[in-house]
Amino acid sequence: MVKLSFMGGTHEVGRNAVLVSSNEAKLLLEYGVKVGEPTEFPAHVRAKDIDGIVVAHAHLDHSGGVPIFYLSEKKPFFSTSTTADLCKVLIEDMIKLNNYYLPFEYIELDNMLKQRNDLAYGQEVRLKDINFQLHNAGHIPGSAMVDLEIDGKNILYTSDFNAVETRICNGAKIPKKKYDAVIIEATYATHEHPERKQLEVDFVKAIKDVTNDGGKVLIPAFAVGRSQEMYSILFAHGFPGLVVLDGMARSVNRILFNHPEGVKTPQQFEQASLSVQEIRGWRDRRKAINNANVIVAPSGMLQGGTAFFYMEKLAMNSKNAVFLVSFQVPGTNGSTLLEKGTFMIGEKDQKVAAKVRHFDFSSHSGQSYLQNFLKGLKGKPDIYVIHGESESCEFLAQYAQDELGLKGTAPKEGEEFEV
Ligand SMILES: [Zn+2]
Ligand SMILES: [Zn+2]
Repeated sequence: MVKLSFMGGTHEVGRNAVLVSSNEAKLLLEYGVKVGEPTEFPAHVRAKDIDGIVVAHAHLDHSGGVPIFYLSEKKPFFSTSTTADLCKVLIEDMIKLNNYYLPFEYIELDNMLKQRNDLAYGQEVRLKDINFQLHNAGHIPGSAMVDLEIDGKNILYTSDFNAVETRICNGAKIPKKKYDAVIIEATYATHEHPERKQLEVDFVKAIKDVTNDGGKVLIPAFAVGRSQEMYSILFAHGFPGLVVLDGMARSVNRILFNHPEGVKTPQQFEQASLSVQEIRGWRDRRKAINNANVIVAPSGMLQGGTAFFYMEKLAMNSKNAVFLVSFQVPGTNGSTLLEKGTFMIGEKDQKVAAKVRHFDFSSHSGQSYLQNFLKGLKGKPDIYVIHGESESCEFLAQYAQDELGLKGTAPKEGEEFEV
């Protein structure tokens, strides 16, 4: 018997959690949060009922709720070593920044990390009657898909994956196996990304246009993966100006230097990282306003972080530019800036004079890649679609049903299915 219970991340992006139950064991695949005020968790799972937790990558929508299982229990935590180290900095930061009540503290995070089992890709694990291994998911450094074998059934949990190679990650390594069930993300099930090589060229040209004209470019970016990719692109294209890096990306870089297996080409990554200047404090920050050409700083949707400071200093000069490089969730400052061209400066909503553009760098597979992935599956697996807006989940489930003749489902929270 194998049962899948969808505890969160259904019909939405955020708080991913799937509970896999066999005759002998219960394995929790992720327990993420939806960061906000207050932070939202998946449906309740009792810590004493589970035998272990797998986290496929460090993003908080996959990992942020896991410390809750370490209030009193000591269940094993499985991930790649890169993911475990990244979880430490991301969850620490979440605890630090949370204004509302969180059901755990630093001590639970420590307890979680004491139970870590670092897995290499392809390393087989046996937990009672559940066998599983991780494969590269190409999404961010350390990211994985979870490949399970239970009671003769094969199940694949893709978590977030990117089939396309980026400067930092190789494309996902998709196992060629007959599956009985596949749980897939649908973030971009209805959206096609631009071709990456061309996107890079356009991006670098747009930056040069601004800097050659005496302007500065602010690139608000996430700390894990995206920040590193942005300066790696500039380095690879021989951008001659001064690029500075601010925020948590600096400590993330320390982790990635220690985990060369987590990045595509460690040597190039190290060279690119050495080519940027790290901001170490407010003195550096004020200096950067005068002498930097490109500033990479968090947060990616302008919801916080030092990008605020840079916006204040740069946004009112039409020579400057703000280039957003990730998806902007509706309602965030980044999305308002894109739509209305305004930003809160000094307590007031102001029309931004700097050029504002969006570049669609994604670490998720776009529409045709998701569809081709499903098309390429052997056998007749049941398809469960999560991690997307409602329309996206429904769309991909329908595609599996209509175009591929598979049983396609976009489960609701709390729904259970037997494999
Ligand atoms: Zn992710
Ligand atoms: Zn995610």
